[in-house]
Amino acid sequence: TDSYPGLTRDSRFSQLTPEHVAYFKQLLGQDSAVIDGINADAAADIEPFNEDWMHKYKGQCRLVLKPGSTEEVSKILRYCNEKMLAVVPQGGNTGLVGGSIPVFDEIVISMGRMNTIHSFDEMSGSLVLDAGCILEVADQHVAERGYIFPLDLGAKGSCHVGGNVSTNAGGLRLLRYGSLHGSVLGMEAVLPDGTVMNDMCTLRKNNTGYDLKQLFIGAEGTLGIITKLVVQCAQRSPAVNVALFGIVSYEKAQRAFREAKLQLSEILSAFELMDGTSQRLVHQVRGGTKPLENDYPFYCLIETSGSNSEHDYEKLEKFLEDVMSNEVIADGVVAQDATQIKTLWSWREGITECIGHWGGTYKYDVSIPLSDMYLIVNDVKARLSEAGLLGETDDHPVVDVLGYGHMGDSNLHLNIAVRRYDKEVEKVLEPYVYEWIEKRQGSISAEHGLGLAKKNYIGYSRNETMIGLMKQIKALYDPNGIMNPYKYI
Ligand code: FAD
Repeated sequence: TDSYPGLTRDSRFSQLTPEHVAYFKQLLGQDSAVIDGINADAAADIEPFNEDWMHKYKGQCRLVLKPGSTEEVSKILRYCNEKMLAVVPQGGNTGLVGGSIPVFDEIVISMGRMNTIHSFDEMSGSLVLDAGCILEVADQHVAERGYIFPLDLGAKGSCHVGGNVSTNAGGLRLLRYGSLHGSVLGMEAVLPDGTVMNDMCTLRKNNTGYDLKQLFIGAEGTLGIITKLVVQCAQRSPAVNVALFGIVSYEKAQRAFREAKLQLSEILSAFELMDGTSQRLVHQVRGGTKPLENDYPFYCLIETSGSNSEHDYEKLEKFLEDVMSNEVIADGVVAQDATQIKTLWSWREGITECIGHWGGTYKYDVSIPLSDMYLIVNDVKARLSEAGLLGETDDHPVVDVLGYGHMGDSNLHLNIAVRRYDKEVEKVLEPYVYEWIEKRQGSISAEHGLGLAKKNYIGYSRNETMIGLMKQIKALYDPNGIMNPYKYI
């Protein structure tokens, strides 16, 4: 209760007993599939499941279950539903809104053992795999067969595809491959009463009734547990080019985006924005040679993916010449080989990790119409400065305010790097940030989800009628409310 003022444990949920644990041990068989903190002191083993990636959310879970099959998931949930035991599904635990961490003593159901890749159809590109597969492993599997997983993000080495689908992750190439609502073709999920919903369709078209799997995409584990997926993968482009630009104003960054869409059109696969502060902080933490000699207020990373390297390179060169001569960009560099491509991407992908270096980060993942998108960073910075909370010395909680994100999708990550989490900072930020976004008809949750972080703010982006319908759906699928309680809505 101390960790989350205002939240109290729901007394409808049972307290875990040794009898419950005995049932799970008998069900899952092997010792390593149950981490038991009820009968023994397992605090150290449970800790990683009780804390999120940002070290911001802490749970009090004392039991972690690691099912190895859909049948086991089904039996676990049926038992929990009968006994009124609350659960939290957990994938790679890289989520950024506190969704994968128990709030009180909910049981963590960790999906890491369900990590089999079942099949891949080289003709259609459909991949059938378990929800606990790590994203990078899935991508590697299809890469060897000439395809690409339609999602990529900085946490790819540890996040699970089930977690990705449950958060409806967007990532670095949504611009090119679209949202998971389009590329997830089929799904198997277990409902809280143990029912297995088998919709493992491998077809692209299937308009036979309500598309129920869509509800689970972005449901953040509140309706059931996703156990298997069918994902439409795209042909991997043999020719990939990456360029990074220095830009003197946000207005020019918008022009660069417009030109990139016009001139690179079908080969444009990513357009990412990074402000000068984000790059300064990455450099401060990691060191290394900066990609451009001078510092700029904005940087853009462009990736093209096509089938003919000469043709693509020519297009990119012409685009570069054009935006340089028109002074849309001030400087730029094009990667010459795979290693340089990786290095340029690391200046973008490394931000999330580096900015936590000073102690923590307040993260707002928002969609805002492009013309206004960056304004929020300046406004928030001014507010924190005026409140005397931002400064270079330790007595200031805030290190700096920065913005970066998926410009191609009007998706900004507004981040406040802090030395410590601090109530005064929170008061300046909330509800200010949400009101700011509501005024511009933006979304308070672009791609990271609601989790615990945004649960109370959903009304800034969804109206009463829609929230009412969502609650009805939740009540229909999970009448006892055992699935990931205290979060989402
Ligand atoms: P978890 O964190 O374990 O869980 C996330 C939510 O899904 C929780 O609510 C959990 O209960 C639920 N869940 C997990 N597995 C299942 C399942 N099988 N069935 C039902 N519910 C389940 N996100 C983006 O969208 N775009 C980015 O570019 C991006 N970049 C990131 C970069 C870094 C460095 C980090 C740390 C995170 C980033 N994220 C990004 C956040 C993103 O949400 C997660 O990385 C990822 O999608 C979550 O997957 P996970 O397996 O770690 O899920």
